[in-house]
Amino acid sequence: MRVVAYADVRTVAVREVPDAMLEAETDALVRITSTALCGTDLHMYDGRTGAEPGLVFGHEPLGVVEQVGSAVQTVRPGTRVVIPTHLFCGTCVLCARGLSAACLRARAEGPGAAYGYAGMGPYRGAQADLLRVPWADANCVPVPGEPGDGYEPARFGWPAVRG
Ligand SMILES: [Zn+2]
Ligand SMILES: [Zn+2]
Repeated sequence: MRVVAYADVRTVAVREVPDAMLEAETDALVRITSTALCGTDLHMYDGRTGAEPGLVFGHEPLGVVEQVGSAVQTVRPGTRVVIPTHLFCGTCVLCARGLSAACLRARAEGPGAAYGYAGMGPYRGAQADLLRVPWADANCVPVPGEPGDGYEPARFGWPAVRG
């Protein structure tokens, strides 16, 4: 699959990498239809984070679920979803209190995790054809409409990168 990856300070590149896959029964695999280009990406782009070359950028995506693990209950292949920036388990003590940005399960080194961000866990970003979404019941939010509708202008984000 194609991704947008950090290459060096102020250099990004479209790269071919192995497809994202389901890795746990609570995962969903989402085919991305658009992804924000976010100001927080600039911290890595400008060299302020120690990002490693190959880090895949991207969060705040829209997409369509392609596969789900056997434990996923709330989305199915074909469900259009939006995915929050940070990823979280949905059931730890902090998630249960609504503090999911400080989830205690999503990153072994400390609270909180995010897609495509240096120091925020091993999760590849969403400026990509496919995104693995852990704890899909917590992290996939069904939305109405169709890919390419007014929620995702064709000239911005990942579709623009794909051309
Ligand atoms: Zn952002
Ligand atoms: Zn949690």
